[in-house]
Amino acid sequence: MSAGRFTQKVAFVTGAASGIGKEIARQLVNEGATVLAGDISEENLAAVAAEFGAAYVPVVVNVTDEAQIEAAIATALADHGRLDIAVNNAGVSRGAPIIELEESMWDYTVDTILKGVFLSTKHEARAMKSNPEGGVIVNISSLNAHVPMHTGSGYASAKAGVEMFTKSSALELARYGIRVNAILPGLIDTPLTQRRTTNLPLMEVWLTRIPLGRPGQPSDVAEPALFLASDAARYITGTSLVVDGGWEITGYPDLSKFT
Ligand code: NAD
Repeated sequence: MSAGRFTQKVAFVTGAASGIGKEIARQLVNEGATVLAGDISEENLAAVAAEFGAAYVPVVVNVTDEAQIEAAIATALADHGRLDIAVNNAGVSRGAPIIELEESMWDYTVDTILKGVFLSTKHEARAMKSNPEGGVIVNISSLNAHVPMHTGSGYASAKAGVEMFTKSSALELARYGIRVNAILPGLIDTPLTQRRTTNLPLMEVWLTRIPLGRPGQPSDVAEPALFLASDAARYITGTSLVVDGGWEITGYPDLSKFT
């Protein structure tokens, strides 16, 4: 990896206090960026800030609240003068079988994932528009945008929405020099998936469908995210990069007995 690809760049990463977002923030900081780290968890942000140092600037923000997003981006502009990179990564998964799924659970999952990406993109793009060099946005969707999951109808539907919103954003924002791409991770070992990755009988079945034979680590997603954010991807916009160890080509095993 080339050192300093992001020197003097200012990035905004949502969901930056855990899992994939934390690793993306770590790698951006390591390569010279200042990272405005947005997350709903003040406690986790403080713990990561103590670990990563001054280039990781914690901002408590709820991505479903437009005023909070707007204020967070305004802080980036006021304190750092610019916004070059945004990674819309915050996400949750709360599911149930469709016939039992509460409306509030659907709203919580879909709003966090899909409305969160819309609100973030709206204000990130407004900030990047005034940047003569434009900007770059990476949205963290999911393989579930392509592959449905038992008890995950809201999650999968919202992630499919993020993939299409990415294409719509790429189309509209190209005129401002803003590139927008999505990453579709497969099964990644983070606090979000711990309940599954620590279920050994489930993992034994699941891994038969992941040709590379293991769940991904956050760094397996962070490195492709940094590639898309870098100048090496300057002619790439509106696309989806599947990062899943080959899982999409085999599909899910029948996991219904584990739900
Ligand atoms: P994680 O739970 O470790 O991290 C998610 C972070 O988002 C947490 O720090 C949480 O506090 C934050 N967050 C939740 N709601 C928020 C809100 N309303 N506003 C701001 N921050 C909020 O999960 P992860 O596995 O690192 O997931 C990161 C992203 O990757 C998510 O969008 C997830 O859907 C996606 N993803 C994960 C996997 C996987 O297998 N782990 C696979 C595909 C996609």
